[in-house]
Amino acid sequence: MTTTTPPAGTDHTTPTTALVLGGGALGVSIATHLARAGARVTLATSGELCDGASGRSLSWLNSAGDRSPAYHALRVLGVDRYRTLFAAGPSRDWLRFTGGLWWGDEGDREGTHARHADEVARGYDSHLLTRKDVAGVFPGVNAEATAEESIWNPGEGWVSLPHLVDHLATELRTLGGTIRTQLGECSLLVEDGRAAGIRDASGAELRADAVVVACGAGTSAVMAGAGVDIPDGSPLAMLVTTEPSDAQAPVLNTPRAAMRPNPGGTFCVDHDWYVDQIVEHEDGHCTIDESVVTELLAEASRLLADGTPLKAGTWASGRKPIPADGQPVLGTVGQLPGSYVAFTHSGATLALIIGDLITHEVMSGSRHPLLESFSPDRFTA
Ligand SMILES: Cc1cc2nc3c(=O)[nH]c(=O)nc-3n(C[C@H](O)[C@H](O)[C@H](O)COP(=O)(O)OP(=O)(O)OC[C@H]3O[C@@H](n4cnc5c(N)ncnc54)[C@H](O)[C@@H]3O)c2cc1C
Repeated sequence: MTTTTPPAGTDHTTPTTALVLGGGALGVSIATHLARAGARVTLATSGELCDGASGRSLSWLNSAGDRSPAYHALRVLGVDRYRTLFAAGPSRDWLRFTGGLWWGDEGDREGTHARHADEVARGYDSHLLTRKDVAGVFPGVNAEATAEESIWNPGEGWVSLPHLVDHLATELRTLGGTIRTQLGECSLLVEDGRAAGIRDASGAELRADAVVVACGAGTSAVMAGAGVDIPDGSPLAMLVTTEPSDAQAPVLNTPRAAMRPNPGGTFCVDHDWYVDQIVEHEDGHCTIDESVVTELLAEASRLLADGTPLKAGTWASGRKPIPADGQPVLGTVGQLPGSYVAFTHSGATLALIIGDLITHEVMSGSRHPLLESFSPDRFTA
């Protein structure tokens, strides 16, 4: 339960109105958590809900690989929040805990063992499987395509963010929250050194006691407009959604393709080997040659045992939000009272826990201990 009592000895007044800028998974989650905590919330966004990275995300729920202890803790809690959501509606086809199978380059046994040892040291559920094991446990996976050894993480899962956003937005509206779409590029309204609201592209102002900026790859630009430096390192990325297929697989992360199941018997597939072939045009929209999509799906099809080639249904590219130092930027902005930021990589895994923890900061006026390492103030000289 989020506390709404301001800490003793501070001049923090619990906000009654809150404005969340950005209609992706983070913004919608934060807005919904704020509404649950009793704030009168407006969610404002430039276009439609989920039109940014959240609409084209692999959304593998995990804390695999090598992470700082603080980042690992946050991600594990992030996955745990999804378990709670799953328990409340286990028949939802947009949130599943299928587990995840990972393998690296053939011959890099040392790298695989180091990754596994690191996961085991952190208490992350991690198992080394041989090709024979994979063939026995996952009949839907082409064991011949795996490396000599793979890592099986049974606690992992996946979510379809457009479904999650829709689910949370429904709750937000039920709680009395307002959703404002098609506002164009908004900027922060700063008065007397405080964030007082936002100004939309038409010049109209929306005011609130607290303003949370969750604009994905657009976060740096919004904060820079208010004089706050949050360096951006967001790369280009592309996600392909396949046509329906009978194939069965858990989340797969492999040297040439990453994929997960998706509602309707489709799969979502991505990787990073083709990033320099994505073209970003002046107006911000991105394109990629269809031959790259075909090649990616050939790589993904090879991972499946049923021999049915996967066909591309749709694909979308754009920026994947990542702060320049690779670490999440979360919480109270000391330089600009009344403002808060949520800008991170792995925002699918973190969306629910971030909604909860940012709400704690907004309503209580105190930093949440779990967000200390991720403070936006680390960039302030
Ligand atoms: C290909 C790909 C694969 C990924 N894989 C994973 C994964 O496996 N696991 C995982 O955990 N995460 C993954 N991620 C990351 C995750 O999807 C993102 O971190 C998350 O979706 C970001 O959500 P967001 O709400 O911060 O940003 P977005 O979804 O980008 O939303 C930001 C919103 O803000 C709006 N906006 C921007 N600027 C302004 C402005 N000035 N005024 C008004 N509105 C504005 C945008 O229009 C958009 O609607 C992946 C991402 C991509 C792209």
